[in-house]
Amino acid sequence: MDLQHLECETGIYHTFCPISCVAWLYQRVEDSFFLVIGTKTCGYFLQNALGVMIFAEPRYAMAELEEGDIAAQLNDYHELRRLCAQIQQDRNPSVIVWIGTCTTEIIKMDLEGMAPKLQAEIGIPIVVARANGLDYAFTQGEDTVLAAMAQRCPSSTGGPFQTPPLIIFGSVPATVVSQLTLELARQQIQITGWLPSQRYSDLPAVGEDVYACGINPFLSRTAITLMRRRRCKMISSPFPIGPDGTRAWIEKICEVFGIQPQGLQEREQQIWAQLEDYIAVMRGKSAFLMGDNLLEISLARFLIRCGMIVHEVGIPYMDARFQAAELQLLESTCRAAQVPMPRIVTKPDNFYQIQRMRDLQPDLAITGMALANPLEARGMATKWSVELTFWQLHGFASARDLLELLTRPLRRARKPSRKSSRLQLSKLYKLSNPSRRQKLSNPSRAHLRRRPRQITYFWLDQTE
Ligand code: SF4
Repeated sequence: MDLQHLECETGIYHTFCPISCVAWLYQRVEDSFFLVIGTKTCGYFLQNALGVMIFAEPRYAMAELEEGDIAAQLNDYHELRRLCAQIQQDRNPSVIVWIGTCTTEIIKMDLEGMAPKLQAEIGIPIVVARANGLDYAFTQGEDTVLAAMAQRCPSSTGGPFQTPPLIIFGSVPATVVSQLTLELARQQIQITGWLPSQRYSDLPAVGEDVYACGINPFLSRTAITLMRRRRCKMISSPFPIGPDGTRAWIEKICEVFGIQPQGLQEREQQIWAQLEDYIAVMRGKSAFLMGDNLLEISLARFLIRCGMIVHEVGIPYMDARFQAAELQLLESTCRAAQVPMPRIVTKPDNFYQIQRMRDLQPDLAITGMALANPLEARGMATKWSVELTFWQLHGFASARDLLELLTRPLRRARKPSRKSSRLQLSKLYKLSNPSRRQKLSNPSRAHLRRRPRQITYFWLDQTE
């Protein structure tokens, strides 16, 4: 793909905070403990975003920095030693992961300097990951943790493998791990390890003889660490999201290992045939991805394969080399569907995106939480990108669940009860606000009058 087609609008990420990665990583590495080191702001964020899980007493906590810490009046090391000793006594984890936040960046807290000394003192490995919201977008929190863990993987000593050793990196639920392991086993390919592993002591061995392949598009830092620091051979493939992505992912691994894939095309066709009821809802509809979780390119490709038109793919950050195969698959999917390639905007400006959405009137907007409710109030069907981050997306078996989630707002928008309530609101508005009524009768806005959803927009937007 010609990278000149990629646009960049601002230098800013408008995303969910990356420290939220602890919510899924603590579940994936079962003997871990995540300690987020930050201020009350980060604590409030975690409590609000992940509140339900906090009540379930998870294996993560917040080390709250006070004014004295920030002003360097207190000794960070002693305080962190006290907290880690308490965690060791209460939870006895195999590893403690320190998550650095914006504040630790701003006050230049030397977490990497303190960790080796402290881990020698208390006898538990301490992994440091800087998942702050200043430098990283939403899902890159996972990337920084996995990149830090990749440094702790043991070195490969070779072994009697039928195919070269293969590790898969990316955090997914145990069911997805078994599905993808089974899919590759069908092609006579054995996965020798996952990063992260279910237990910290089972981190996979890495080295020059080991092949590595990612399953999430936001793991470019982990890929670079595995390639440059641990000398692994990287398999650059599309990501196993949707039946088309899964087929392409397996095909690429087979190609690298010189294996002819068996029954893969048939399996993909079979899965698509089972999804026809959902695809009928999506066919001919349009989508706009505002950009939040860095899964946008893969999702756009999947939506286009399901018969949708994607106007724009906003993405906070993209490593074009790591996503090269996915971008190529997106291009070929557009060609096959005979639809234009979506506009790809990195670090998009939300203000301009909303202007474009007003013109394009997409049927579905995939957006961050902050903008979902205002867009819904303006009559647009939305899907929170954060839901997709927590959903099972990978493999053939997850395709139905993924479509169930993506089509929910489209099916809801088709319900007559909702439509009539919008019409009532717009009527109410027209009666109660004569100046607005005048605006609506302006001939240049005639096209807007034909769409009740757009009328609702004017009713709510007092700044128009
Ligand atoms: S890490 Fe930064 S962006 Fe995230 S909650 Fe803390 S202060 Fe906010």
